[in-house]
Amino acid sequence: MNKTTQFLEKSLSLFSYSQNLRRDFHRHPELGFQEYRTAEVVARELRALGLEVTTGIAQTGLSAVIEGSQPGRVVMLRFDMDALPIEEQTGAEYASQNAGVMHACGHDGHMAIGLTAARLLQENRDLIHGTIKLVFQPAEEGLGGAERMVAENVLENPHVDVCLGLHLWNEKPLGWAAVVPGAFMAGADFFTVRIFGKGGHGGLPEKTIDPIVATAQIIMGLQTIVSRNIAPLESAVVSVTQMAAGSAYNIIPNQAELRGTIRTFLPEVRDVVTARLEQIVRSIAMGMNCEADIELQRLTWPVINHPRVTEVVQGVIHNLLPDLRIENNYRSMVSEDMAVFLNKVPGCFFFIGSGNPEKGLNAGHHHPKFDFDEQVLSQGAAILAAAALELGKMEL
Ligand SMILES: [Zn+2]
Ligand SMILES: [Zn+2]
Repeated sequence: MNKTTQFLEKSLSLFSYSQNLRRDFHRHPELGFQEYRTAEVVARELRALGLEVTTGIAQTGLSAVIEGSQPGRVVMLRFDMDALPIEEQTGAEYASQNAGVMHACGHDGHMAIGLTAARLLQENRDLIHGTIKLVFQPAEEGLGGAERMVAENVLENPHVDVCLGLHLWNEKPLGWAAVVPGAFMAGADFFTVRIFGKGGHGGLPEKTIDPIVATAQIIMGLQTIVSRNIAPLESAVVSVTQMAAGSAYNIIPNQAELRGTIRTFLPEVRDVVTARLEQIVRSIAMGMNCEADIELQRLTWPVINHPRVTEVVQGVIHNLLPDLRIENNYRSMVSEDMAVFLNKVPGCFFFIGSGNPEKGLNAGHHHPKFDFDEQVLSQGAAILAAAALELGKMEL
């Protein structure tokens, strides 16, 4: 029996440990940056393994380090902790006891996987090359938990060489995974454009500078970015989703405003889109004698996986679970702040199928009936522990 197979067997033997933890987290969900009870449970379990725990990183986040017996890389395993403002409707015996708050994305499962993987690794320290850094992150759901953790130096002391994370994926059944090199999940930007003209009487346009006509041309101009500036085999979205101007039938307003979103996978594609947006807005506004003001807000980075790290994860899954179907060209427009870590250090973030339609466990993420097949907990923990072991030995 090789070492990796041992990890799967051990993980399966720990199933009730994983399940109890998951159900405990599920009963007591907490919103981003308020995961105080959750953090206490995580810290208690890590301390029970004999690990020293650093708490209070980005408010409620924590980390712990497992020193291997041999020199090697520092491999970070990241797990998110927050729940969502949703009223649970699963009717499960372990349903949320906090009104209006629910683990509807599967982060309860991620934490149970993390603590089980920690146990597998701590009990096999003699096999570890390098150091495993376990990171439990608060506030993944659009609140910027990862960014705050990076700002509070979670990637240092010890300096992280490579990072790994996973997400349960209820859109697909148990026995499936998406482990994708390169661009995997889209990054999102929001933009606001303000066009300033000179208002006046609707019957005397020659006395005004009309920002509405300029804005209409800008909206049409923006449609050419994806169609004319992005190669047909690349992906990008530019959507104008809001516009506002004017207050009466007979008044040409002073200004107009439009807002929208950009979605891209590759940084070079995003650079083209944002540069062209700026050029089109400014030049059309100038041509129409208006002034323009542009605000661009980066909401999330895309998730970009390192090809060799991804290959290692694929190999580990293939060894552990030969029947599991691995997709290597799956992409999602959902965003994920693991991207913040992946932007700093090479790594891999992957999906693992957690649905089970036969058991009625296939409601989507963020749905009040979301629930998953808990068998995925043993799979996830074994995969992460085995992958961390491999990556500790790897030269990048
Ligand atoms: Zn989510
Ligand atoms: Zn999530």
